[in-house]
Amino acid sequence: MFEGITKSLGEALKKLKGRGRLTAENVKDGLREVRRAFLEADVNFNVASDFIARVEAKSLGQDVLAKVDPSEQIVKNVYEELVALMGPVDHKIPQRSDRPVVLMLCGLQGSGKTTTAAKLALTLKGQNRKPMLAAADLQRPGAVEQLKTLGEQIGVPVYSEATNPVDVCRNAVAQAKRTLCDIVILDTAGRLQIDADLMAELQRIDKLVKPDECYLVVDAMIGQEAANVAKAFNDALELNACILTKLDGDARGGAALSIKGVTGVPIKFVGMGEKVDKLEDFVPERMAGRILG
Ligand code: GDP
Repeated sequence: MFEGITKSLGEALKKLKGRGRLTAENVKDGLREVRRAFLEADVNFNVASDFIARVEAKSLGQDVLAKVDPSEQIVKNVYEELVALMGPVDHKIPQRSDRPVVLMLCGLQGSGKTTTAAKLALTLKGQNRKPMLAAADLQRPGAVEQLKTLGEQIGVPVYSEATNPVDVCRNAVAQAKRTLCDIVILDTAGRLQIDADLMAELQRIDKLVKPDECYLVVDAMIGQEAANVAKAFNDALELNACILTKLDGDARGGAALSIKGVTGVPIKFVGMGEKVDKLEDFVPERMAGRILG
């Protein structure tokens, strides 16, 4: 994970480190290389440019040039700005006493929504909560069966009916209430691309079922396109957070570094593998540490 950006960023910073004392011009040159490393990692252009501008202003403003080891300070500034770029993140899932909490998962087909629904349910089970999964993806052949199989595997009930997505979600919430489940995760349908039908269906569920939180499941392998996808979903649904999947196979980091900067929506969890126990909190400090190697 992040091997590519770690290597190119490391090389850019090594040049700064090798110099001892620095001039303002050295700092600018060094940061230009950091920017290049970001763009190679498929970070959104504006996000990369703003990031470099902030690190440069901070570094020159601190008068780093007068320090004995100015490059150390610059690396520290890069780290701090990386953390600010990806955070802050609140990992809590809401609780309520009047009715089950409803979490809506949305995203494009193949992003890992169904798998993530099960991962999230397992995580919640581990926190002594009683989750239920709702099979509201009536588009992708096999999605309902896949969720049922995963539900069985992790011991979490799956609500399904062959009607329409709104009724599935509504009736799942009623069933959860009856069976004393305290949280319902809606696995909604995706499409291969963002289209008006998809958004209209999700908006209908949002309006009629009123989920407490809405999370976008998005694939890290699509790089900065993930931020564009997040923007489109956020415009339609007001996302609370993103869940970035397949981070285990992402060498570049463009999605992780672009999403919050482009949309203002934080990444809350990350998928680190196909198995149901491979969901982790997204911790900006840890990510920044990994990126810097
Ligand atoms: P959906 O169409 O959005 O419901 O997508 P699925 O849940 O069916 O996932 C699509 C594929 O991505 C499946 O082969 C999953 O096993 C795989 N997948 C999902 N999350 C991850 C992840 O975090 N890491 C890896 N390596 N694969 C994942």
